[in-house]
Amino acid sequence: MDLKQLVKEAEAALAPHFARIGDLAERGTARVLDAFREARVSASMFAPTDGYGYDDRGRDTLDEIYARVFDAEAAFVRHSILSGTHALTIGLFGLLRPGDTLLSVTGKPYDTLDEVIGLSGEAGRGSLADFGVKYKEVALLPNGDPDYEGIASALADKTVKVAFIQRSKGYLDRRTLSVEEIGRITETVRAHSDAFVMVDNCYGEFVEEREPTAVGVDLMVGSLIKNPGGGMAESGGYLAGTRKAVELCGYRYSAPGVGLEIGASLGQTKNMYKGLFYAPHTVAQALKTAHLAAYLFEKLGFATEPHWSETRHDIIQSVKCENAEILIAFCRGIQYGSPVDAYVTCEPWDMPGYGDPVIMAAGTFTQGASLELSADGPIRPPYIAYFQGGLTYESGKIGVLRAAEEVLKVQNERKSL
Ligand SMILES: *Cc1c(COP(=O)(O)O)cnc(C)c1O
Repeated sequence: MDLKQLVKEAEAALAPHFARIGDLAERGTARVLDAFREARVSASMFAPTDGYGYDDRGRDTLDEIYARVFDAEAAFVRHSILSGTHALTIGLFGLLRPGDTLLSVTGKPYDTLDEVIGLSGEAGRGSLADFGVKYKEVALLPNGDPDYEGIASALADKTVKVAFIQRSKGYLDRRTLSVEEIGRITETVRAHSDAFVMVDNCYGEFVEEREPTAVGVDLMVGSLIKNPGGGMAESGGYLAGTRKAVELCGYRYSAPGVGLEIGASLGQTKNMYKGLFYAPHTVAQALKTAHLAAYLFEKLGFATEPHWSETRHDIIQSVKCENAEILIAFCRGIQYGSPVDAYVTCEPWDMPGYGDPVIMAAGTFTQGASLELSADGPIRPPYIAYFQGGLTYESGKIGVLRAAEEVLKVQNERKSL
């Protein structure tokens, strides 16, 4: 198999998609620049604050900019939100109270939320269950569609306070939901209940023209070492939504009564602004890389989700590897094609918060940043590699080619046995 020739073929076939993605990045960039201009962003806002961080204009203005770019009433963005899981935890504990029910309406939430909800792990660590919050779930239909009827009937339980939607597939063999579908779920919830609608938006930002907050959800949550950090933010997360939901989460983030009034920026502000500036462009680079990976691996005989010809709703590309050896080879190839730690051969390990060993390729400038070229997968059937990122299409392409080479090597060794 001549991989160079295959890439040429891929790029010809993908030209219309790449043009569409270019337009998307332009419109996203215009949205960000409009928000920067209206908020009168100036260099003085990047100055670090310390201590309590009262009156940090850079921080407060970035909150306004996020709200504006995401069509939300309010938002907060903090380098001190440690991860996506932490941001989601702030959201869940911000909105739920003892006796309430959390209803996940898109099947099982992301692995790391199991212990937060209290579905796994030891009792007594302060999960939602420990605080008397109940949990229920409506599965997606076998074809991957939301079960609108099922959601409507689950809302007959009037203790449901949060209807929880996960946009991206996460580590599940499912498809990613579009913003339009999230809008329809939101309408369904509104018709039957006054519960908050909360969205795990990880990996979704800037992949479509609109975010879930533009179709009326109460709260949307994401990580800055994924899409909206643009590869620049060194840590952090955001929560955006209605004024009420964001205020409640602000009290949980810091302390009741204190809310979003404090929080020193410690010099992290400029990277967060710069990251948002880059985000529409960088997400486009990742999307192009994902399309290319889908094309190549499909031609090499692998099942991919989404298909190379499909329009995307997040930056994740899954490749079904069929066995642990191929999955490991795929991730090793991505690592060998990365800018940092390219000499390292990755191995599966027991990551905190995940049930099965996970293999992770992350030759990234920022640890675990997955808008940067990265791949991971739990070592369990059907051995899916979840691949994402690429700060530049050029480097993403090199990484994907290395992955293909490693996979072909294993296949050839197997054949010659
Ligand atoms: C990444 C991710 C999370 C959790 O983010 P961490 O930063 O790894 O804690 C939650 N949900 C989804 C869908 C994700 O992709």
